[in-house]
Amino acid sequence: MLIMNQRILSIALDVPLNRTFDYLSGDFTACVGNRVIVSFAGRSLVGVVLEIKQTSDYPIEKLKPVSHVFDDVVFDDLKLLKFCADYYHYPLGQALISTLPLRLRQLKPAVSRKAFAYQLVENVDTEQILSQIPTKKVLLHRIISALQALPIMASSDLFLISSSWKKAVIELKKLGLVEEHEVVAVQASIPSSCIEPTLNDEQASAIQSVLALTHTFKPWLLHGITGSGKTEVYIQILKKILSEKNAQALVLVPEINLTPQLEARFRSRLSQYPLVTLHSNLSESERLQNWLAASSGAAKIIIGTRLSVFTPMPHLKMIVMDEEHDGSYKQQDSMRYHARDVAMVRAKQLNIPIILGSATPSLETWFNATDSQNAKKQQYGLLSLKQRAVQQAKLPSIFCVDTAKSPTESGLSPLLIKALRERLARKEQSLLFINRRGYAPVLHCNACQWVSSCTRCSARLVVHLSQKRLKCHHCGHEQKIPLQCPSCGNADIRPVGHATQRLEQTLQHLLPSAKIARVDRDSMRNKDALTDLLTQVHHQQIDILVGTQMLAKGHDFPHLTLVGVIDTDNALHSPDFRASEKLFAQLMQVSGRAGRAEKAGEVLIQTAFPQHALFHALRSQDYVSYANELLQERNAMQFPPTSYFALLRAEANDYALTQQFLSKAGNLARELNTEVMIYDPIRPQMERLKGLERGQLLLQANNRLALQRLLKMWMPQVRELPMSAKIRWSLDIDPLEF
Ligand code: ADP
Ligand code: ZN
Ligand code: ZN
Repeated sequence: MLIMNQRILSIALDVPLNRTFDYLSGDFTACVGNRVIVSFAGRSLVGVVLEIKQTSDYPIEKLKPVSHVFDDVVFDDLKLLKFCADYYHYPLGQALISTLPLRLRQLKPAVSRKAFAYQLVENVDTEQILSQIPTKKVLLHRIISALQALPIMASSDLFLISSSWKKAVIELKKLGLVEEHEVVAVQASIPSSCIEPTLNDEQASAIQSVLALTHTFKPWLLHGITGSGKTEVYIQILKKILSEKNAQALVLVPEINLTPQLEARFRSRLSQYPLVTLHSNLSESERLQNWLAASSGAAKIIIGTRLSVFTPMPHLKMIVMDEEHDGSYKQQDSMRYHARDVAMVRAKQLNIPIILGSATPSLETWFNATDSQNAKKQQYGLLSLKQRAVQQAKLPSIFCVDTAKSPTESGLSPLLIKALRERLARKEQSLLFINRRGYAPVLHCNACQWVSSCTRCSARLVVHLSQKRLKCHHCGHEQKIPLQCPSCGNADIRPVGHATQRLEQTLQHLLPSAKIARVDRDSMRNKDALTDLLTQVHHQQIDILVGTQMLAKGHDFPHLTLVGVIDTDNALHSPDFRASEKLFAQLMQVSGRAGRAEKAGEVLIQTAFPQHALFHALRSQDYVSYANELLQERNAMQFPPTSYFALLRAEANDYALTQQFLSKAGNLARELNTEVMIYDPIRPQMERLKGLERGQLLLQANNRLALQRLLKMWMPQVRELPMSAKIRWSLDIDPLEF
């Protein structure tokens, strides 16, 4: 019987079904983790082999053979993705395939561009073997003496010795003298002329603590203000970790922080270790090559954004997550994972340390590292850097400008204008932070109070004056700016409020001699625009930067001494329970742009609520007290991190459908359980989005396990609800907002 010899492959496919699929191995030899092509519902799909088994729940004669098995990529470890599929209640096949570079989701083999390096085999009596090689084989002798001088040589180095180096190396390999390694074709590293700074005591002790516990799972929180030398700490720790044979390290950063400067700093300081980056600005072929380099072990350092937390790395020895509080670590569609939590699980599975770094840690992390009642507290180590690393660099002075007492004109208070003029006169730079792009947030009719709103979303249409258009920033809808009020015909309709473009225009008016640059998603469309602009800023070709949070992060501006915050009062009173936490982090970060070199910095915050606790904490730069205060509030309200949320979101053309689905789902959950609090369906702040009526159902539990137990029983029932096919729904575990 032919079938006896067949192996059954359990395969994960990118289909929205929460199960795996059995196929026969056919004429192929497959391993767990291999990519395969199978025919599924009349289409050819890429899948990944999860298991090889002898039996199937299906009649074996009905199973189809796989169409192809690629030997190009092997996932060596599926534990992490299995955990995620379970925890986020997301189909494993979809989770797995979605972490692959696009090229690996296609029905073709992946071709990796390989590069090799050569070195002498250790512990071999080279001289003895060499003495047996006839002297007329000059090239062999020359290669050996070159390798004795230079411990490792790339193919390109050997080519310089002779164009027929390849044959000679094959012979030397046969003799057991030379070994070959696959390496990443590293971009030219910056010559390491950079000086290693002398660590201050806090840095030295942080490094010492981490290095004392390396081959074990250990989470660290590195809490230090901007400029306190956190990056320096990561670099020196990695240097040590990577000095072990084969070790790899993963450095996670928020998308916007992965600047060429940061990459260059790691490259130059760790120039002996091949480094690749993984982020959304790479071309598909770059992404593939970098991913392959990581998964083959050839790349030793991976700097990447959110998704790179899943990249296979066979020798991973340390994970660093910079700016761990950043919201961009949370995936907001498909599998809604949080890269911080995934990284933590990965470190635990691999039994390696993980460092979370931030000036303003997330309350989750702060709670884990400091709460004495908390079981995790025993695991987390807290490392603090309290001063700026560069001696002369002082903390900026932070003041509030009371806009109730000193009203703003065109968005700017007299005090802020005066401060801008002073900077101009001293040839120093200023940054104005306003978290709204466009010209003005809304168009308004004075006669009938009409405001421009989107028909598809519960949102205002933003005025983009230069293009003479109104745009919805949520669904992309746009239209021409009307000449008169669409409601009453009045011709006197005006943009109300301020956004980046209007502020830029106002400044040009007020300070005609100033060179002003705007930084937002509209002005920075082009991939290199931000880098070019930053170069101009460094060469002092710009006096004033106006921008959104794009400017807040990661950039070092030595000549910048003034930061003005235009209007954050909306965020101050937002219904989002994380609003204060986020605003505090954002303002600390943007304040950190001022005075990073010898020049003292000043931060002016325009607000009508200068007495707000958030500003008190900010003025004294006291994250710790503020975080503890917020934690108490969260605890009193039973909000995360002291309790756990899951959110079932739904949307449909008609709210009645959404509502019906959510109530049915809610009732099912209530029948299953008593431990988890199940709220009634409500509408989110943005009730309508892209033409769909939205609703959500909140589940709250005091412990994670109880919540997960319920979800495990509940989700299959929700999937089976007859209307679940008619509406769009998703489950968000540990939602960031609702
Ligand atoms: P962070 O990552 O906390 O913002 P960085 O590591 O970027 O801080 O350090 C801020 C600046 O201080 C950088 O220019 C860095 O080169 C410098 N620096 C860091 N540590 C030291 C040190 N021990 N002595 C002198 N300069 C340092
Ligand atoms: Zn009107
Ligand atoms: Zn819209």
